[in-house]
Amino acid sequence: MSRQTSHRAVVLASGGLDSTVAAAVARRDGYDLYLLTIAYRQRHAVEIERAGQVAAALDAQQHLVVDVDLRAIGGSALTGDLPVPKNRPELDRGQGIPITYVPGRNLIFLSLAAAHAEVLGASVIYFGANVLDYSGYPDCRLEFIRAFEVAVQAGTKAGAEGKRIEVRTPLLALTKAEIIQLGMTLNVPFHLTHSCYDPVGSVACGQCDSCLIRKEGFAKAGVVDPIPYALP
Ligand SMILES: [Zn+2]
Repeated sequence: MSRQTSHRAVVLASGGLDSTVAAAVARRDGYDLYLLTIAYRQRHAVEIERAGQVAAALDAQQHLVVDVDLRAIGGSALTGDLPVPKNRPELDRGQGIPITYVPGRNLIFLSLAAAHAEVLGASVIYFGANVLDYSGYPDCRLEFIRAFEVAVQAGTKAGAEGKRIEVRTPLLALTKAEIIQLGMTLNVPFHLTHSCYDPVGSVACGQCDSCLIRKEGFAKAGVVDPIPYALP
């Protein structure tokens, strides 16, 4: 199969629910999938293994894992020794920038995705960022995404040659329940996806913000969450 490189999409794939739905959207849109996972030495390294399984399930052309040690920089509950908050009520989750924010993470991830896209000749990056259910991460906002596209255009060979690299965020304004419903229509392998910030072995804790948001989303969508939890 010799498809044009313009049919290639880089998908930032964390092995999580949102990025897996974003990958399924890219496939629906007719792209050949090039999944990119950043192993940033996060607590929840089980995600990296799951991302590989998701890549296989979605018939990706490639799954590239790049190591970037964000633990060396720290400053987050996901990369440092700070505890991950558990069982926070919804009101608290909506307040401020949480300790699970990883400094510069999406800026770094998108930069790597843009570099990968430039090498592949891909014209588009799919990114499963989401602002509604996600508790105030500034690097998930549309103004950041648009500014990043401008930076890529100004600062890459692709941009200098007039080749635009677009960042698509199909889940940005959806609720978790809507993301799950969209995923259902695209046959997303939810059983492979991992959302927990602080898993017990490879099993989701059931109590961190991410587990709570996931569980609420499945309940609101009226869909059974196929993954087990350490605590219900
Ligand atoms: Zn959890």
